[in-house]
Amino acid sequence: MPLLPALQDVSGPAAAREAVRFDDVILTYSGLARVTDALAARLAGAGRVAVWATPTAHTVVAVVAALRAGVPAVPLNPKTGERELAHIVADSAPSLVLAAPDDVLPPALAGLARLDVTTASPDPAPAAALPEPDPESPALVVYTSGTTGPPKGAVLPRRALAASLDALEDAWGWTADDVLVHALPLFHVHGLILGVLGPLRRGGSVRHLGRFSPEGVARELGAGGTMLFGVPTMYHRLAEALADPDASAGLAKALAGARLLVSGSAALPVHDHERIAAATGRRVIERYGMTETLMNTGVRADGAPRPGTVGPPLRGVELRLVEEDGTPLTGADAIGEIQVRGPNLFTGYLNRPDATAAALTADGWFRTGDMATLDPDGYVRIVGRKATDLIKSGGYKIGAGEIENALLDHPGVREAAVTGEPDADLGERIVAWVVPADPAAPPTAEQLADHVAAQLAPHKRPRTVRYLDALPRNDLGKIMKRALHG
Ligand code: ATP
Ligand code: MG
Repeated sequence: MPLLPALQDVSGPAAAREAVRFDDVILTYSGLARVTDALAARLAGAGRVAVWATPTAHTVVAVVAALRAGVPAVPLNPKTGERELAHIVADSAPSLVLAAPDDVLPPALAGLARLDVTTASPDPAPAAALPEPDPESPALVVYTSGTTGPPKGAVLPRRALAASLDALEDAWGWTADDVLVHALPLFHVHGLILGVLGPLRRGGSVRHLGRFSPEGVARELGAGGTMLFGVPTMYHRLAEALADPDASAGLAKALAGARLLVSGSAALPVHDHERIAAATGRRVIERYGMTETLMNTGVRADGAPRPGTVGPPLRGVELRLVEEDGTPLTGADAIGEIQVRGPNLFTGYLNRPDATAAALTADGWFRTGDMATLDPDGYVRIVGRKATDLIKSGGYKIGAGEIENALLDHPGVREAAVTGEPDADLGERIVAWVVPADPAAPPTAEQLADHVAAQLAPHKRPRTVRYLDALPRNDLGKIMKRALHG
């Protein structure tokens, strides 16, 4: 099956269906097929192409045209700083950059030829259907979020995109009738592959809000949207909006009416999960993935969402937990590193054979760097990243995530992050970074430590509490722990 079957055959009644909508820019399947066919013809043989990935229909047209031409696309985050952008351009060496006519491109892209993208579809339709490229050929080069180090370019073959999107279809019963409400950026796996290529592969539609707001979500879910994909910071804002008695009724009704509310890209705090469930009667479901592996686990639409879990492995994905020395873990409740294997995996990092080799075992398992435990029914419970979230204190291995959840449950805490710092006695000491709900009256370190100890266990008490105005976060709202100590 081609990667985007609904764009191959636009002669039938499905052609008039809405594929993507950004405000007043609406592309039907036949419109998107025509405009991307015309652009694909101009891209043939272009090598890699960069896409200036603003949250607009131009980005969809550029990426889909590259996919149809069989030319790998490199989505660029328009908010990236000059230095990182220059690194990505030098690393990926695109032959040109696709942008909207009115985009102003930064100096880092000055050396690249520019091709303007239009969203207006030409007449007449092209004569012949485009040949489908080889499934192993690269579809996209997506740079990782740079949470733990400089971003690496993950080369994603068409096969991985198809496998991961079809596993989500299986888990969520995703159909052509689904209308996805979308407010994420379009340069990462979540917003671009799941949020745009997902609906297009199913023949369904996507409505992009341009910018996230609880009002926009309520409006679009109230007007036919069936699914919402978001990151935890969005669900946090929805939980806050639901707590406002003047504004919450319409939003609660809209969320309650959605078929699926999905969170991913980082852990959804249990506190926000519970607040949304209490206000709407609906439980947000979590899925877990990464740039290199696309989607690994996810709660099924007919499954039982449990706060703090990301569900079982998706169809086709093998998942295991391993000890530090790489041997598979057997004991229940034990923390191990997640390794995954399956058709959803990337082919490697661009220009980084060393990093690729380090990430894969000899028999093809990908080392995710994420630590987890398994619930008895196979649901995965992520405790955090090996590099930043696993604290070895007093002979215990402690995950930052559960302490963060406990802190967030304290009424005086708005945001929380937990790290480990070297300690002469304990090996590592638990440090809590807290944004108080009321900066004028923050909870004391002792109150917070007691709260954590009462909820979890005495050895999980933070020894040090540091107060901040805000946590450092990236564009997807992920907490940048490496910026905390710096
Ligand atoms: P880098 O690899 O450059 O350090 P990154 O790992 O943040 O950055 P991504 O590939 O965008 O880059 O993110 C994948 C990571 O996000 C996963 O390894 C995991 O740590 C985290 N993640 C994704 N979904 C979830 C989830 N549902 N719950 C907890 N963590 C998640
Ligand atoms: Mg990573």
